[in-house]
Amino acid sequence: MTRTVKWLSGPLNTGKWAAVLAIATAYSLQKDAFLRTLARTVRWADLDNPRAFRKRDKASRVNCWTLPVHLYDRALFDAVETMRRWILAAIAQTHIEGKLFRMFEGRQRRYAFWLLRKFVRIGAVLRGEAPEPQFAIALAERQAVVRLLRRLLRKALGKAPRVHLRRSFALDNTLYRFFTHQGKPYLSIASLVPGQRIVIPLKGFPVPAVTGNVRVVIDPLQHTVAIHVPIPVRVKTLPERREPVVVGLDAGVTEVFADSRGHFYGEGFGLVLDRLSAQTTTQGAERNRLYAAAKTLAASSRPEDRQKAGRIRRYNLGRMKLDARRARGQAEVKRRISEALREVLRSRPDVLVMEDLSRMRGRTKSRHLSRVVSRWMRANLKERAEFLAQAGGSRLETVNAAYTSQECPQCDYVHHNNREGDRFHCQRCHFTGHADTVGAVNVARRYTHPELWERIRVFTPKEDVLKILREIFERQKARCT
Ligand SMILES: [Zn+2]
Repeated sequence: MTRTVKWLSGPLNTGKWAAVLAIATAYSLQKDAFLRTLARTVRWADLDNPRAFRKRDKASRVNCWTLPVHLYDRALFDAVETMRRWILAAIAQTHIEGKLFRMFEGRQRRYAFWLLRKFVRIGAVLRGEAPEPQFAIALAERQAVVRLLRRLLRKALGKAPRVHLRRSFALDNTLYRFFTHQGKPYLSIASLVPGQRIVIPLKGFPVPAVTGNVRVVIDPLQHTVAIHVPIPVRVKTLPERREPVVVGLDAGVTEVFADSRGHFYGEGFGLVLDRLSAQTTTQGAERNRLYAAAKTLAASSRPEDRQKAGRIRRYNLGRMKLDARRARGQAEVKRRISEALREVLRSRPDVLVMEDLSRMRGRTKSRHLSRVVSRWMRANLKERAEFLAQAGGSRLETVNAAYTSQECPQCDYVHHNNREGDRFHCQRCHFTGHADTVGAVNVARRYTHPELWERIRVFTPKEDVLKILREIFERQKARCT
């Protein structure tokens, strides 16, 4: 696992800046040419196998912008990566998987998901073809799936990506070298002129031991560059254990989380969030009022009013101060979340199960929580959990958390009356517990319970989740009586 760290350069002199700009321009043009080739769906097998793309390209290579060979290759792989990410993001954002899941079942559903697993098949679907899978499925059934999927994909994909800003390029380890001279760090990179290198002075910290690809991002205003360096993060390996330890987390409001073992982490976090929420909303209201006042005054015919408007703009809208305060607030949220997660991970669970936070979009658990703060919290929680879980040797699994707050972990009875504020009390079997702990237990069960894991996917719609839970409950009941 890696993290990206950025190194900044000082301002470059005219000669060096021109040389760096030349690379960025040539690289971007080349990458754009590759993107145009890859936009043709007949070429999408190349997205599954970039090496084959490179091999074929080599046979008919026209290196129009005279890039060094290694840089040319980077542009090629970069284009493939951009294209792949674009397709996957479009599919995820438009919930295509969820739609297919609802529309089809059995063989057709299996076929739909089989089609999405390879780019070459996605390309075929877009051309209206219905490729044949290993398993048996009639042509008419295949075509029905392809018709719908093609429509969804065309709507989702829109215009293929192109390179608009010629601002960055990637380098493999033959193209750059970090070194230290008189205690100062430098980066030397190959220029477009054979044999000539560009030496870039770096700011700050000592030179890292870097071996992988780095990305150079240029800043045309400052004439500086930022070097994005992937730093490997050591992942601890655990001794074999017989039963994997699974811990479920319920992201709360009063605390950062409750876990399925009945522990609470990051107490007092709710107070911090409330304070930040109050701050962001009152600041926003105050600023809006001043904006309105300044606008009215500026439109006034009296010169002293217009002067006053200017003064409000200059001194009272206080964007910098506000931004600084927000940054501090965000840092505080991030710190609290990291602390709480470290505490959870101290016992080194094998699997950490959490709600799929990207699907919580816009939803908050508390009314007091402003949208801004809730957004920081979700973004940080996701990023931190992914990072810390891996670094600590735990695996992070995300599950669909619909109805986890209303479901009884003992008898599977689902009812909104089961929860009342902080208390969980099953209306049927009278099981009781802290509501957040029960939520966390249910989150963990979505992973450990074979049927729940099998049938409730992250994209399963809420109504279907309820249907599945009811069905399991009825079956249990029938067995017990
Ligand atoms: Zn119950």
